[in-house]
Order: sequence, then structure tokens, then C-alpha cells
Amino acid sequence: MQRFWPRYYEKFVCTADQCPRTCCQEWKIPVDEATEERWRKLAPPQAVKPQRKALSAYIIEKEETRVIGLKKDHRCPFLTEKKLCALVSAYGDEVLSETCTDFPREVHVFSDHEEETLMPCCPAVIDIWKKEEPGFPNIPGEEENLLFLLRKEILDLLAEEKISPEEALLAAFYILLDLKGRKKPIPADVSDCFSEKTKKELLKAIRKVSLPTEDTALECNEILQDLAVNYQNEGLYGDFLDSVLELSAAISDGEWDEVLEEKWNVFLQEWKKWDGLIRKFLMNEIFSDLVAADSDLESLILRMEWIALEYAGIRQSAFLNWSLKGEGTLAYETLRDAIVVLTRMTGYEEEDIREYLENSFECPLWEWGYFALVLSRGAE
Ligand code: SF4
Repeated sequence: MQRFWPRYYEKFVCTADQCPRTCCQEWKIPVDEATEERWRKLAPPQAVKPQRKALSAYIIEKEETRVIGLKKDHRCPFLTEKKLCALVSAYGDEVLSETCTDFPREVHVFSDHEEETLMPCCPAVIDIWKKEEPGFPNIPGEEENLLFLLRKEILDLLAEEKISPEEALLAAFYILLDLKGRKKPIPADVSDCFSEKTKKELLKAIRKVSLPTEDTALECNEILQDLAVNYQNEGLYGDFLDSVLELSAAISDGEWDEVLEEKWNVFLQEWKKWDGLIRKFLMNEIFSDLVAADSDLESLILRMEWIALEYAGIRQSAFLNWSLKGEGTLAYETLRDAIVVLTRMTGYEEEDIREYLENSFECPLWEWGYFALVLSRGAE
């Protein structure tokens, strides 16, 4: 089976003890069967506390998955004080579970090829995008396949620097809804929708839409709180979420005023300065998450909505964090941390996304106006 990956994929190196937000804490670390079997015969290294008989004794069952039982501070028991893995130091990389070996790489298997990407929930991945173009591959036959052609066209649209990342997503979502309304769309319809003439008209119309800043801010606050509530209840990402959610709740309770509106407008100018990085992040999301092996047009629309929710959560949390820190310019570290934490919180499987959208919205398939409200840059 042929395998494809973006050019940046080969540049990844784990920064280990230098990592600003290690993956060895605050989430589920699954252990596959073969690893569990091997761990039954291995004693924990001295540095691991508390000491147990075998490595397998640190595995627990959580939500029907075998995972490493985290300590009370939500850190992996094998993570040392120097932020290194005690297992790797004692036994080498071969001792690791599949998840620990692969992260942040992911493979998507299709009927005729496989695709590999890196997940943005690792800070080292964002660091690569800060310096490099991702270089997404062309997949043979994508022009003849409705869904792959759609993905290609959306990637091309996002790459256009004259169009803001938000405008590109708004145009793409409009086209997806348009195609969904047709009887049996074919690849030629996709090419029509993305022709220069149609895109120009669509973008002209999109640029005329102006939505009240306050409505977007309040909606994005709700989105952020919904996405974060379970994590906050479990005491996860407290260093990031606690103060951000406090300000978010105050805004929802009516504390949106002229001062905050002014701050929001300043923030948007700062946000714009990171358009290049945000564009690469969104392109990676589209490349890796928009199309799955069993996708149809409806699932693409739901995926786009999920990307919009993720994006809204990132932008809102970056805004709140930036406000709280009183930063003049939006620091790279503030933006990176927002992307890393929010993508860790939104890394849902297909069926979980559908369930979330069904539970959170009257109809899981949004109208374009709601998509625009979520992504709006307001007073721009
Ligand atoms: S998050 Fe990325 S850079 Fe950090 S420890 Fe994990 S793999 Fe390494």
C-alpha cells in the first residue's frame, strides 16, 4: 500500500525534558496487549514511585481501555522529576507502548493508500510549522474522487494568502452545504464551486457579512466552557484553564463591556499577525481530519464544524490568556499553548464528534450563519 506524508513530517524530534507541555501527563495513555504482556515480566526502575512488582501493575482500566494509571498530580508514574521517561532510561525505546512510540504521529488508512501526519497537540509540531511550510502531498486519483477533491480544493483555498483563514473556512463551508443540497454531486461540481469566478463572488458576499463582536465573543465563551467543562471537573490542565475559564464565565455573566471590546479589537490585530501559522494549523487539520475511510459529504460537514469549534476554542482561550497576562503583543508561546491544550481536549473520534454535536445543537448540521458567527472577526 502506498504511503503519503507531508514534508514537515520528517522534521519531527521530541524535545523530551525541554518540552513546555509534555504528553506524559493529563490524558489517557493506552497500553496495547503486547506491551502489557511484556510489562508483566519487567520490574519498575528504581526512580518509579511507588514501587510495584511489575510494570504491568501500573496499568488500569479506564472507559474500557487499558491505560497507564496516572498519579494524583495527573502525571505518568514513569515521568521523572527531570521530565524524562524512566522506562526509556532503564530499558530503551523498545519498552514503550505503541501509543508512546507513535505519538504525535498518526496514520489514516484508506482503501488504496495510507496517510501519515503529526498532531498539533505536541508543541514540537507547532515549532516546525513556525519555521517550515508543511508541504502536503498530492494523492494520485484525488481529482476523480469527490471527497478527496474537496479536501484538495479547501487546502488550496487556505493556502491563498490574500484570503484570511476564517474567510477560507467560511467559503469552504458554504460550498459543502451547497453540494449537500444537490442530488448527486460529482467532482466536476466541486471544480465549478472552486472556480476563480465562483470563489471571487463568494468571497465578495462573505466580506459583506458583518456580525456583532459581542455575539461572537459570547458564543465562543459558551463553546470554550462546553469543551472544557469535563476537563476542569477532572482537575486537568488547571494551570491553563482555571484563570481562563474564570474570565470566560465573567464575560458570560455580563461583563462584556467597552474595555473588553477594545481589548478584543487589539487582540484581533495581534491574532492576524499569526495568520501564517494559523493557516498551517488549519491546513493540517483539514488534511488529517476532514476525510476518513468511511466518510460521506455529511461527515465532512460535521468535521468542518468540529474544526470551527476547535478554532473558536483556541482563539477565545488565547484572547483570554493574553488579556490576563496583559501582553502587548500576542506571544508565540501563548498561541502555541492554546493550540496544544485545545487540540488535546478536542481529539475526539468520529462517533464522539457526532454525539457531541447532536447533544449540543438542535440540529448537528449547522446553518452557514452560525458557522460565520463562530468564526467572525467581528469589527475587522
Ligand atoms: S508533547 Fe511532543 S515534544 Fe513534548 S514530550 Fe510529548 S512527544 Fe515530546
